[in-house]
Amino acid sequence: MSDVILRLALPSPLRRLFDYRAPASMARQTLTPGMRIRVPFGRREMIGILVEVTDKSEVPADKLKPAIALLDPVSPLPPALFKLCLWTAQYYQHSLGDTLSWALPVLLRQGELAEARQERFWHVAPGARLDDPRIARAPRQREALATLAQHPHGVAHTLLSKLMLSKDSLGLLLAKELVQIEVRRHLPVERHEHWLAQPELPLNEEQRAAFNAVRSGFGGFHAFLLAGVTGSGKTEVYLQLIRETLEAGKQALILIPEINLGPQTLARFEQRFNARIALLHSAVNDRERLDAWLAARDGEADIIIGTRSALFTPMKHPGLIIIDEEHDGSYKQQEGLRYHARDLAVVRAHQENIPILLGSATPSLESLHNAHTGRYGLLRLNHRAGSAQQPRFLRLDVKSRPLDSGISGPLQQAIGQTLAAGQQVLVFLNRRGFAPTLLCHDCGWMSECPRCDARMTVHQRSNVLRCHHCGYDEHVPRQCPQCHKVDLRPVGAGTERAEERLSILFPNIPVLRVDRDSTSRKDAMNQLFATIQRGQPCILVGTQMLAKGHHFPRVTLVAILDADGGLFSGDFRASERMAQLIVQVAGRAGRAEEPGKVIIQTHLADHPLLVQLTEQGYFAFAEQALSERRAAGLPPFAHLALLRAEAHKPGQAESFLDEACSAAEQLLAELNLHGIELLGPVPAPMERRAGRFRAQLLLQANARAPLHRLISAWLLLLEHMPSGRQVRWSLDVDPVDLY
Ligand code: ADP
Ligand code: ZN
Ligand code: ZN
Repeated sequence: MSDVILRLALPSPLRRLFDYRAPASMARQTLTPGMRIRVPFGRREMIGILVEVTDKSEVPADKLKPAIALLDPVSPLPPALFKLCLWTAQYYQHSLGDTLSWALPVLLRQGELAEARQERFWHVAPGARLDDPRIARAPRQREALATLAQHPHGVAHTLLSKLMLSKDSLGLLLAKELVQIEVRRHLPVERHEHWLAQPELPLNEEQRAAFNAVRSGFGGFHAFLLAGVTGSGKTEVYLQLIRETLEAGKQALILIPEINLGPQTLARFEQRFNARIALLHSAVNDRERLDAWLAARDGEADIIIGTRSALFTPMKHPGLIIIDEEHDGSYKQQEGLRYHARDLAVVRAHQENIPILLGSATPSLESLHNAHTGRYGLLRLNHRAGSAQQPRFLRLDVKSRPLDSGISGPLQQAIGQTLAAGQQVLVFLNRRGFAPTLLCHDCGWMSECPRCDARMTVHQRSNVLRCHHCGYDEHVPRQCPQCHKVDLRPVGAGTERAEERLSILFPNIPVLRVDRDSTSRKDAMNQLFATIQRGQPCILVGTQMLAKGHHFPRVTLVAILDADGGLFSGDFRASERMAQLIVQVAGRAGRAEEPGKVIIQTHLADHPLLVQLTEQGYFAFAEQALSERRAAGLPPFAHLALLRAEAHKPGQAESFLDEACSAAEQLLAELNLHGIELLGPVPAPMERRAGRFRAQLLLQANARAPLHRLISAWLLLLEHMPSGRQVRWSLDVDPVDLY
């Protein structure tokens, strides 16, 4: 019997590896870490990833099951990617098997061959001649044959129409055996000699300094924070650094936030370069994702662009990583493997010994702190590129002013004036739907979600009440469910209501709404943007989908209907997020010749953070916010981990967390660890959500190392705690949202 033991990572939440016996068919010397192996697991089969080959196991020999099959002749995971996954699993205290299954393309996890898709190629048959008498009177077939003859490697079926090759003519040629079809892998597209498809803009002085700084960091690990106001030409700096990377024979990886997936952002990269671009974002299907991943791995893609998970794309010749809008919340995954793609990107750049550039107009306080402490080089672009100027801010105090669907009188006037001057207006409101609540004017009933501690939003177009936390929905009732009177009123305003009201106030002006409800149709967003680009006066109403990446040259007034939520929220990051949102939305104003104005409606017009933000700008705000964080012992001056639990019955989550808390206290003493505080357990800010009762325990530490020592010992205890079986629990290292 073989005594070769395969130690595998399996897609399971358990933080351990699983041992199997290698069947005789698997020769030890052919096995390398990263290979995929099919194994029995309970009554199912699973695909695991080989981590190590050994000859000892703690599992008794008669309990060891044999592996079923080896799926790869060589490991599909390059060692660098494997190393990154190991680091990730360890840092986020997540099972390695589950980490790998988040990191790898879905088809690889399912056992698909780690090879690019096979394609059909059309070829001229050997011996076929253009003057073949059978096509003497068929000019279209002759033409098709002549075109095909110009492509000695054949033409992929998917490219026929691009070359004006008619499938009918080819079909007739095939019947005469003048052409052939071959099924094979796509030949790698050759690298271009000349990278630029479009001339570069001459960099201004600030851009040049930033470019030179990063350029001189090529060839080793260096992290830079490019803090440039909106419209300062950060993207142009990225593009020129990417060109340098390509010229050096290397690949560039660019991460963009989910919200920037718009065609505008991608087009800028595609138009600039004659490069092989691999796209990895939520809109590509599994097959395309695997092909892009393989192309990047094999050095057949020059530029890799994608959202969060594209961070785990292997590169054969890594040269540069760019994180655009590094402050964006979509870089943090909120379920399963709760990683932060920006933080991991820095780790990856370090492991691969390449430079990384984090760019934003509103850098996260974490990154600013890293710049202050010298871990990142700080590069500033303080001026808009070209002739555009920074917008002016106005805080409009709406205390004791009547609001008409969320819009005050002075704001209506300002909108009217802007439209009359032939310009466009952007109205920002981060709340979808018609109104956040439905209220009975007679008895005070409110539209509570039956499954959450939250109100259901009125959606008038679709005539439903919908909970934005769990998705539950029902018809808008005609009469009060409690007192049966009919005086039900929507309270407050969402984008749908603002849109409706603005259409009435400005009847001759198009009002375009941009939010998840209005743009769910695939091309709706593009149509909207086409209208906006035409430049006629119009009003755009939208949520944060409007905030980033878009270029609206004719918008000169930005109205922020409600900025107050971020100023008195319980979440310590709320003010940072609000400031980022305000500045990003404001950045849409006056991007071209006309100067822009930003009006912020608020009940807290004198709030120090708001005053500082609007009068001195984001960086002054950020300094203030950082000093508050320091005083309060909060990140980035402390390190957090959050243990969340939820259960069907009230009290279950708390009792699990109570037990977890005592276990942690005991470990702190046993391991002699200091500087860690256990805060809680407490009910989650929204205690009931989707029918489950939720609670949490926060760990706050002044240093990372002891926190991680505690957690790794602690999690092993938690996995075996009986009270943990009744609850769903998870640990979030460096949590972003404390809900
Ligand atoms: P950011 O990414 O910082 O928001 P962009 O790269 O989108 O800024 O640049 C804003 C505008 O300025 C774009 O229209 C861009 O073409 C233009 N621009 C950028 N760099 C220059 C430059 N050096 N000279 C002239 N125009 C520039
Ligand atoms: Zn009622
Ligand atoms: Zn709900």
